Amino acid sequence: MQDNIIIANADDTPSAASWQRQLSRAVRDPQTLCERLGLGSLWQAGAHTGHALFETCVPEAFLARIKPHDPNDPLLRQVLPLSNEALETPGFVSDPLAEAEHRPARGLIHKYHGRVLLIASPNCAVNCRYCFRRHFPYADNAPSRAQWQEALNYLRADESIREAIFSGGDPLAGSDRQLAWLVGELEGIAHLKRLRIHTRLPVVIPDRVDDALLGWLGQARLQTVMVLHINHAQEIDRAVIEACARLQQAGVTLLNQSVLLRGVNDDVDTLAALSERLFDARVLPYYLHVLDPVAGAAHFDVSDDEARELVAGLRQQLPGFLMPRLVREIPGEASKTPL
Ligand code: SF4
Repeated sequence: MQDNIIIANADDTPSAASWQRQLSRAVRDPQTLCERLGLGSLWQAGAHTGHALFETCVPEAFLARIKPHDPNDPLLRQVLPLSNEALETPGFVSDPLAEAEHRPARGLIHKYHGRVLLIASPNCAVNCRYCFRRHFPYADNAPSRAQWQEALNYLRADESIREAIFSGGDPLAGSDRQLAWLVGELEGIAHLKRLRIHTRLPVVIPDRVDDALLGWLGQARLQTVMVLHINHAQEIDRAVIEACARLQQAGVTLLNQSVLLRGVNDDVDTLAALSERLFDARVLPYYLHVLDPVAGAAHFDVSDDEARELVAGLRQQLPGFLMPRLVREIPGEASKTPL
């Protein structure tokens, strides 16, 4: 069982926050997922195979946006384990971005000038089948408060670092108490200007954007940018739009990054609808990533030539400010590489 993206901070006690109770009740059994969506035995067998490699996790708030009886539903395809995940494909590996070479301290990844990634939570609220960190050794990168000091000292010592990026897992799967503590430590580092949070939680469980979260976010000295992860317009329902509005009222700048995924968003109209819907939520498209070649996800791959063609078609439909930048992450490069 590949269980390195695990569910924690799921709490079903009456005193737990609503989002934690929702997380604890997420569907984590492939059989239940298929039965709830009216998928037959063929899909169920494949789902068990994929689940054995990377466990299933789908919260109810996301499940409610999936059309039943449709194995091609674009949201379902992102979360349904498949037998294809067991296929070995040349070039698709467990650490496609070679992140192991860029970890100077536990919980910290330093790849680019001026900014560092902090693995603020090893947990996720949904397990996306194409995730480039589906094999990441989270157990080795989940520091305690005392262990965070090594990473914090690294930031204190390097005055070229302007931006701390909370990543994961999903950083917002962490408790507000822990996140507020970590932000407080960062705020004491004078040369840090920005906090960026890469998260899918406000999308898959919009109730994550509650008063406790807004409390520490709204008070931060650091300018805060949240980069959401949304791949299809169908993910953006009324609750997501309201969650985005609350974040904006707290002074958070909202951007989105998507992954170009075969069978999910690999056509011009779908990508155009996504940008339009993002703007309905006052979120600006930022990146459209081509798939990172992670083992188990080759069936999502779209070729570079096709990706370029799609973006050329998209440019004919959208104003420039709704165009995401098509990029690939290449290990060792100084930034994302435009295609
Ligand atoms: S893509 Fe993001 S939210 Fe999805 S499993 Fe990976 S880290 Fe978690």
